[in-house]
Amino acid sequence: MNKVEGVIKGKCPNCKNGDIFETKGNIFLFRMPLMNDKCKDCNFKFEKETGFFFGAMFVSYAIAVAEMIASLVVFWMFLDLSPLKVFFIISVIAVVCSSFNFRMSRAIWIYMFY
Ligand SMILES: [Zn+2]
Repeated sequence: MNKVEGVIKGKCPNCKNGDIFETKGNIFLFRMPLMNDKCKDCNFKFEKETGFFFGAMFVSYAIAVAEMIASLVVFWMFLDLSPLKVFFIISVIAVVCSSFNFRMSRAIWIYMFY
């Protein structure tokens, strides 16, 4: 398993087997993803120090901006919707993708500093 696959599947960077997240979360039920403190297979500690995931916020921001730009291109340039409709669609997409962004940004951050 390479790093990209590990990030997408949310697997431990050390053993590539244990899960980083206990639950995936569901934004429609107002549930954020729950993280494991340590890998259940190899005991690798995911949060190296207090505030380790502060930097993941910037990764999350970059992912959100990429999603918004992609949505803008699709809905405004290709489907030619009005700017107000595009704004609301992008807002909904940002909210719906938030738990996905949360998981991806933390997994990317863990893999970056492994
Ligand atoms: Zn592990």
